[in-house]
Amino acid sequence: MKLGFHVSIAGGFRNVVARAKERQCETIQLFTRNPRGWKYNPLDAEDISIFKHQMKTSGIGPVFVHMPYLANLATTRKGLLKRSLDSLGTDLKRSALIGAPFLIMHIGSAQNVKTGLERISRSINRVLSSVPSGVKLLLENTAGSGAELGHSFEQLRKIIDKVEQSARIGVVLDTAHAFAAGYDLRTEAAVASTLTLFDQTIGYDRLCLVHLNDSKTECGSHSDRHWHIGKGKIGHGMYHILHYPALQNLPFIMETPRTNLKEDLMNMKKVRKLLVQPKRPRKQTK
Ligand SMILES: [Zn+2]
Ligand SMILES: [Zn+2]
Repeated sequence: MKLGFHVSIAGGFRNVVARAKERQCETIQLFTRNPRGWKYNPLDAEDISIFKHQMKTSGIGPVFVHMPYLANLATTRKGLLKRSLDSLGTDLKRSALIGAPFLIMHIGSAQNVKTGLERISRSINRVLSSVPSGVKLLLENTAGSGAELGHSFEQLRKIIDKVEQSARIGVVLDTAHAFAAGYDLRTEAAVASTLTLFDQTIGYDRLCLVHLNDSKTECGSHSDRHWHIGKGKIGHGMYHILHYPALQNLPFIMETPRTNLKEDLMNMKKVRKLLVQPKRPRKQTK
């Protein structure tokens, strides 16, 4: 199991590996551009070549790229749809250029669930048919706030079912989003039943990454608030997620709140501690 964080590209890609090492990352996620805007600069060839060399020598990997937030592939608004399609195509190409094998897509939202899901599949088909393969597109389950789609395993399944080149599609399981969407993860039994449902609906073969986040909000709240590992409403369920047999060979990336390096190190330490902790810790005598 490889562990990592979402890492900033501030100051250039050449600063990423140092930041990843500081956080004891074995794998990383990043944005290739400002996640809250449409504008972007072309990648700087020298900067990227330095980054790729550093990645190679550090042994950190794989790199997961996360798409910017503004895109909505389910929208009925023509202008926004065009920008969203361009955005996805651009990020697939940028991911390939920086040597990232995976791009995490922003699913989108729509008032009508059925046509919204169909529109997402159609959008994916359009983009995939125009961009060479090489980067796998990952759908991430959402918390389902407002009209956000992709909060149930069934919805993700429906999107995948209508993608023509479905071998190019994978899935990210975000634990905070699943929990907020109503999938219980608090106990060993709850983790097993949620993950079994995932396997039956989508299949473990699609699962490429776990976003390991605790949740500040209750199960079924549909409110997306990531929290520190073990300190949120999932709490000790984090232990059972980390020890779940079917997840052992997957990369785990944390998107926990951070104001400074210390918080990342605290979460990394916590996860490593949970990983070596025996299943039924003996009662402590103090
Ligand atoms: Zn996530
Ligand atoms: Zn989130």
